[in-house]
Amino acid sequence: MTELPPLPFQARRDIILFRLAGGSMVLPAAPVQFMGGDSEYRYRPDSELLYATGWAAPSCVAVLRGFADEDRFVLFVPERDAKAELWTGPRADPEEVKERFGADAAHPLRELAEKGPGLLAGGDTIHYRLGASAGCDGVVREALRRGRLRRARKGAGAHVLADPGAVLDEMRVRKDDAEIARMREAARITVDAFRDALPEVRPGVGEWEVEAALESGFRRRGAGGPAFATIVAAGANACTLHYSANGSRIGPDDLVLIDAGAEFGWYAADVTRTVPARGRLDGARREAHDTVRRARRAALAACRPGGTVEEVHGAACRAIAEGLVGMGVVEGPAGEVLAEKRHQAFYPHQTSHWLGLDTHDSGLYRDGDGPVRLEPGMVLTVEPGLYFAPGSCPRVPELEGTGIRIEDDVLITDEGAEVMTEGLPAGWGTEG
Ligand code: ZN
Repeated sequence: MTELPPLPFQARRDIILFRLAGGSMVLPAAPVQFMGGDSEYRYRPDSELLYATGWAAPSCVAVLRGFADEDRFVLFVPERDAKAELWTGPRADPEEVKERFGADAAHPLRELAEKGPGLLAGGDTIHYRLGASAGCDGVVREALRRGRLRRARKGAGAHVLADPGAVLDEMRVRKDDAEIARMREAARITVDAFRDALPEVRPGVGEWEVEAALESGFRRRGAGGPAFATIVAAGANACTLHYSANGSRIGPDDLVLIDAGAEFGWYAADVTRTVPARGRLDGARREAHDTVRRARRAALAACRPGGTVEEVHGAACRAIAEGLVGMGVVEGPAGEVLAEKRHQAFYPHQTSHWLGLDTHDSGLYRDGDGPVRLEPGMVLTVEPGLYFAPGSCPRVPELEGTGIRIEDDVLITDEGAEVMTEGLPAGWGTEG
């Protein structure tokens, strides 16, 4: 496996603490999720805690204190417990944790209720997502109560609650080199697994079999697994945007939409291709596929530093509207279709979302100054599509029961953009 640069947790924390200034932040671990009874899902760490500390196990609370001179990074972690460790694996004691994670102090989690409020009461703003953890909710409420009293007497004390995303989102949207290395690897694994799985797309094959080929391709190449529920949608199933039952057999004339991505080192890839079961396509459905490919090219050309996600979407929508007019699905001209938003009946979603630790990664698309400008290091998807649900297209009924989407992962660079998933043709066979 490729050698990966270490993630710069210390440098990130220095920036977080600087931006917190007179405030603090509380990041609890994500809870363990159960399937039905008491079987645990494979653990997925909280992205913000992971980003700030590298902690990837359950049951932890990180406290960051930008206002303080000491104990600026404090961890509360589970204690050693031979019985629990037999079931869920070895734990480190607080001293080891402190060393390994570069914390100023580490305490047993059971001391959180007692020590937490005192650690937080001194700053002005506590960055914490209320409701994230019952234990932390109590600690933060008590810190605010003490902070109000302190403020009344001394003029300073915690009295504002803010979202951790106010500090972290802007950092997470610009990927550092170590993150980009992981995302390229997630993209490479996903492209290679698609290459394994696409030959499985044939009439009579179950959607689940294509899913199995893809996901086995992820795991065999060292991915943690799928970053989200794999979609293999044949025929009209592709018109349901989040179809993931993958329980139908592929029909002889179906177009098959496959939306999947590997997670590698906790970073996601997110790729879609739509291929015909019989390996060829003609008539109106061929035109529709060509339209989505033109929209893809136009949108990719708009991915550059200084551009915006809205411009990328605009470029895709223009190509989609022109294609719809060309196919006779809607009456032109295309400019009017766009102005009246008539293309949205067949292309209802956005062209892009941020991609990173989360498949729909954190980060604003607009801020107080208008649309967020694309910068080197930002990673977004480009995923134009066309969907003709049954009964939706009386002017070209041949298109009904067809959903097409083509999705790639794009890194904005100094020069323009790197399509990290370029290794996978947008058509089928040798078609780019
Ligand atoms: Zn996507």
